[in-house]
Amino acid sequence: MKDTKLYVVIPCYNEEEVLSETSGRMLELFKSMISDGLIGAESRIVMVDDGSRDSTWEIISRLSESSSVFRGIKLAHNAGHQNAVLAGLMTVKDECDCAVSIDADLQDDINAIAEMVRKYDDGCDVVYGVRSERKTDTFFKRFTAEGFYKFMKIMGVEIVFNHADYRLMSRRALDSLSEFKEVNLFLRGIVPQIGFKSDCVYYQRAERFAGESKYPLKKMLSFAFDGITSFSVKPIKLVWSMGVFVCIAAIIAAVYTLISKFFGYTSDGWASIMCSIWFIGGVQLISVGVIGEYIGKIYKETKARPRFIIEEYKKQD
Ligand code: UDP
Ligand code: MG
Repeated sequence: MKDTKLYVVIPCYNEEEVLSETSGRMLELFKSMISDGLIGAESRIVMVDDGSRDSTWEIISRLSESSSVFRGIKLAHNAGHQNAVLAGLMTVKDECDCAVSIDADLQDDINAIAEMVRKYDDGCDVVYGVRSERKTDTFFKRFTAEGFYKFMKIMGVEIVFNHADYRLMSRRALDSLSEFKEVNLFLRGIVPQIGFKSDCVYYQRAERFAGESKYPLKKMLSFAFDGITSFSVKPIKLVWSMGVFVCIAAIIAAVYTLISKFFGYTSDGWASIMCSIWFIGGVQLISVGVIGEYIGKIYKETKARPRFIIEEYKKQD
């Protein structure tokens, strides 16, 4: 009989439709894992309300009053998925032996948690939940999501393919995570950088149990952009390559312009304008844009804003 203290952290944003089902299934899973001796009775399910506007917090409140297994953390405002996960993990890290983060919508197979804990028992500090297939996702979601992982790789960000934020981390890994003080938080990029022994658990991704995705395309694009600019200087290098390319193009254009001028097909001033304004203007605009993005990040980092503000920490024990 082991008494591994497992804490499951669930970020919830306007999830009133799924919470009772999610909490019920989680509780069942906990009971069976406890009776199998996989985890100790001190394990907890921690729900983080990310500034929801519906009755999510009322439900979490009720659950945490009904049983000591459930705990609720209410963030003071909507801090975003990544920050909500981090808030949960950082709040419990000194009490647990290991923590699993999982979405509230039951898209990720909760039974994979048992497998994760087994790998933890075998000495893994990080266990990634990886989607083996995405049959139930719409073509559009699958295309954009897989494109996201591929694009991140191309842009030089080291991430685990088809792994979202469903993962187990040991206390040691969580302690290391807390050392990353950056404001532009991209957990999928940070966790592989922590190191330690890691492994993957594969599962099939299901459909959202109820409600709708809180990650529309717009949020996903800004998430990808954030991930890249927080982790990689490849965009700057790309701009540099583009500059080289444009310079070569400019030489060809210059030759063409000079020949045209030589044969007298041009009017005064056309050649010099042709050779300079367009290309140089374009290159400068893009360069300034990208460099500006990085300066924006530096600006945010130096301000060292709090990443989350906890309004309440509700628990029975
Ligand atoms: N979420 C959150 N804050 C937000 C947006 C989402 O805590 O601002 C939570 C949400 O409740 C869910 C998880 O993050 O538990 C993943 O969101 P969702 O399932 O909508 O994303 P998808 O699976 O469609 O990418
Ligand atoms: Mg989801």
